[in-house]
Amino acid sequence: MKAWESNIRRVVPYTPGEQPDKTKMIKLNTNENPYPPAPGVAGALRELAADRLRLYPDPTAGVLVDAIAAEMGLAPEQVFVGVGSDDVLAMCFLTFFNSGKPILFPDITYSFYDVWADVFRIPYETQPLNERFDIVPEDYYKENGGVIFPNPNAPTGVECPQEDIEDILRHNPDVIVIVDEAYVDFGARSALPLLEKYDNLIVVQTFSKSRSLAGMRIGYAMASPELIRYLNDVKYSFNSYTMDQTALAAGVASLADRQYFENTTRRIIATRERTKERLHALGFSFRDSRSNFIFATHKNCPAKELFAALRKQDIYVRYFDKPRIDNYLRITIGTDEEMDVFLDFLERYLADRKHNDCMTRN
Ligand code: PMP
Repeated sequence: MKAWESNIRRVVPYTPGEQPDKTKMIKLNTNENPYPPAPGVAGALRELAADRLRLYPDPTAGVLVDAIAAEMGLAPEQVFVGVGSDDVLAMCFLTFFNSGKPILFPDITYSFYDVWADVFRIPYETQPLNERFDIVPEDYYKENGGVIFPNPNAPTGVECPQEDIEDILRHNPDVIVIVDEAYVDFGARSALPLLEKYDNLIVVQTFSKSRSLAGMRIGYAMASPELIRYLNDVKYSFNSYTMDQTALAAGVASLADRQYFENTTRRIIATRERTKERLHALGFSFRDSRSNFIFATHKNCPAKELFAALRKQDIYVRYFDKPRIDNYLRITIGTDEEMDVFLDFLERYLADRKHNDCMTRN
């Protein structure tokens, strides 16, 4: 072993869902939006003069911060933007989780949390979701160095009731509590109104899902001006220019079209509800999802088998080979047509399987 090897910061990185490059595929594996961004986004990108790229972007990302603040009914001083909510969350971990005490998050949750904790050397303790995949607020009463959970949770899609979030906040006045609302726009209730009451709360959202801009990388945190100042201090200690000029233009254009945002999220919710009915009829069970995905298990066909069978058809869903959830598939909601192809395939596959099963038993 070379001497310098002991000085390396070693980490096991996060594994994102695969991004196959196929023209004919149904991609239900990374919770992307099946619809394009608001039409104004394409216009804004076309208008962006290449000559402007000589210049650095505004380090404060002012136009985007102002637009988010206006949309959310906040002061610009309460908004921090980053390169996707992954960047925002990583900055939050680095800025706020420094007590030396373990931070707390659910055992089944976004699998980036333990990666950030590891890379920043933050101790953590996971708290088990109950059998129904609910967060148990009492588990977060113990002494800790901070709390983070998504709402709705990922990959379960389960919403944490506002009373439970408030209960967790009430029991944690001395640490920062982060609610990761990547999926909140698909019918869940935001913790945003609680900002007025709790100065230790940070709400994080993203343009990746409900605004169809996963490829543009825009995320944001909302909190008290004091917490946002601390976040900016850390950001400016890394990279002043996180938001490039295209992201600023696209983000502002997306926010300018509220009608489009409402229409597409409503459409995805409608497709989700229809998908739930058909999945139930096919023998799947799942907790009610308030996100743009459904986390489902089948009564007799193993998830791993279904995952592989779907993949063979170029239908991609997400499968996590992890304790407690290794018999579940996380299915992103696509268009109605995509969901029909997916569900029709499942219907045929499960019927053939049942038939073959009967034949071998007879
Ligand atoms: N939080 C959760 C719970 C997520 O599932 C994701 C998407 N992988 C993110 C944050 C990050 O999304 P983005 O960086 O695209 O905003």
